[in-house]
Amino acid sequence: MWRDINYLINLIYSYGNFITRKELVKSKPNLFWIEPTNYCNLKCPMCPGTYADTGIKKGFMSFDLFKDIVDEISLFVLESYLMLGGESLLHKDIVSMVQYMKMKKLNVLMDTNAVLLTEEVGRELLKSGLDFISISFDGYEPSVYEKIRVNAKYDVTLDNIRNFLNLKKIHNYKTFVRIRSMEDSGENPNFNKQKRDSFRSLFLNLPVDDFIILPFGNWNQNLPENETFHIPNLSKIDTNHPSYHPCSYLWTSLCIRWDGTVVACCLDLLNQLVLGDRKEKDIFKIWNDSPILDLRHKHITGELPFPCVTCEHVISKKIFGLPAGGFCGVTSLARKFLGIKIYKDMLGQSGYLRKLFFK
Ligand code: SF4
Repeated sequence: MWRDINYLINLIYSYGNFITRKELVKSKPNLFWIEPTNYCNLKCPMCPGTYADTGIKKGFMSFDLFKDIVDEISLFVLESYLMLGGESLLHKDIVSMVQYMKMKKLNVLMDTNAVLLTEEVGRELLKSGLDFISISFDGYEPSVYEKIRVNAKYDVTLDNIRNFLNLKKIHNYKTFVRIRSMEDSGENPNFNKQKRDSFRSLFLNLPVDDFIILPFGNWNQNLPENETFHIPNLSKIDTNHPSYHPCSYLWTSLCIRWDGTVVACCLDLLNQLVLGDRKEKDIFKIWNDSPILDLRHKHITGELPFPCVTCEHVISKKIFGLPAGGFCGVTSLARKFLGIKIYKDMLGQSGYLRKLFFK
């Protein structure tokens, strides 16, 4: 109860700090991404992690470091993502991690490519009380899927997802399940609509709470051309654009990589915006230390470093001075008190209204 009230007060402070462009802030972060591992079992061409020369060390977060982080953040946040740059199900302790976060009364959100979502793992995750899982399953048909999700087999993944949903249905588990597909924006929309409809019918009578379609992303990196689908090119953001604003993530959230490296956002898979090391300093110290102060300053003055200089977050539309795409913390509060499903339905409505007013 006290944590919820403190959270609300902190959220108001975060809003004030962001709106008034304060570099040194009294508020705390509202949301975290914790990375169990940056190893992945797949080699997807749109992911910077696929390319061997990234220079980023790979590994698994130790359970001790994980507990240390969760003990600290659970004093003031309501939820955390348990994912970042790799496939979280590769971590041998992933179920224990979810259980530990639930014991600390945090909502737990994760994503997976579902290749390792066997019946046993799925059952344990559902039993652990996982609140939200986003399953990446792209391409609508086997040949396209296997070109995107390189090393995965369409039939295996489809079986895993259906078995997981069946378990959810039989035991009435409350985990919110989203299926997320990437679609090539260059394709004919009508053609895609037919494919989309037949794709959804694969999960008929199964409890999918949400389907979401996204264009191919590139995590703000220049990636090699791909013959199967179009990966967008990077272009520089104009900081004189009327919608320009500093990135709200710098006032609301932090991401902690498997080895304790703290980075500014979940797009920073190549550690280009390192803010500190959680093994050396606690979160509050990092939150107002010189690297993040410098980054906030650059965002306020419009001297954006890479990869922010190519990131559309800084020109998203605004509502009451806040990015229309969301302000980390507001969403956590809504998810906690309304439940993820009601929140998502409302978001659908507000997305419609946003389009109506801001198009
Ligand atoms: S502007 Fe983009 S890349 Fe930079 S911190 Fe924000 S979300 Fe990350």
